[in-house]
Amino acid sequence: MVEVAAQAVIKEERPTAPMRTETFRQTRPDIAGPDAPELPFPIVLSGTVQYGFGRGGKDLGCPTGTPSLTMQSSCLTCTLQANLPDESITPMSSVTQTGVYYGYAQISPEKNGQIVLSEKDRGVMPMVMSLGWNPFYKNERLTAEIHLMHDFDSDFYGHEMKALVLGYIRPELDYTSREGLVEDIETDKRVALKSLARLAYEKFKSDPIFDTTQPKL
Ligand code: ADP
Ligand code: MG
Repeated sequence: MVEVAAQAVIKEERPTAPMRTETFRQTRPDIAGPDAPELPFPIVLSGTVQYGFGRGGKDLGCPTGTPSLTMQSSCLTCTLQANLPDESITPMSSVTQTGVYYGYAQISPEKNGQIVLSEKDRGVMPMVMSLGWNPFYKNERLTAEIHLMHDFDSDFYGHEMKALVLGYIRPELDYTSREGLVEDIETDKRVALKSLARLAYEKFKSDPIFDTTQPKL
């Protein structure tokens, strides 16, 4: 049985991620999720992009913005605060397995009341999201890290990020090598793009949560 995050959270010990195996790599499908999003998707997620914990997203070719989160799914609404040590994990985690997800995200152009994001960086971008236990907090806190599949002109710490999570790709895995991890991240991006290219997913690019007055790419 798949353990949901809410079950994991009440345990004293965190689940250890399964080791990534050669077999898993060879059998990874190139599309994930059903033909159209099913509950609990779509999950709306928004928050200000925080500094992460220097785990080297950029070094791995995959910078990930970490929003302080407000999440909503069509079946519930609640808040999950990332990066705030005195906040506790909230019920959103009860519908959400840890692992890698795909969807769309948009960064707001302004920071501190000033428009600072390049025009080309303001659109709705495909994204991959890793939801996991953050080792910085001794694995006591769930953190969402979002990589937008777009080449940004600048960092966007402090900006609002809105995301629509539409599907699940795979569970978290442990890696014996950096190459194995990088390879899986690259596969995740390909799987996300292919999964999102389906009509029932693509239409969420113009969902009303996004600012569609921004130029589209
Ligand atoms: P951190 O540990 O602070 O999260 P990362 O190496 O993961 O550092 O880099 C994340 C930061 O990189 C984001 O907060 C954002 O400002 C910037 N960034 C630039 N391009 C992207 C992108 N395509 N997706 C996500 N973040 C990006
Ligand atoms: Mg990061």
